[in-house]
Amino acid sequence: MTKPRPCPICKKPRSEEFSPFCSSRCRDRDLANWFGDGYAVPGPPVPPEDIVHED
Ligand SMILES: [Zn+2]
Repeated sequence: MTKPRPCPICKKPRSEEFSPFCSSRCRDRDLANWFGDGYAVPGPPVPPEDIVHED
């Protein structure tokens, strides 16, 4: 009954291995985001609605 959800980073189908992400790249990117410098990590662009503006 559980519907698979896409990768929260790039919206591609997620991988079992890297759940809830689709790849190690997206997993690492999410981690980097938590540390505040994720936007320096090469990868797919983040849609504007996913960026939190703090000011
Ligand atoms: Zn992804």
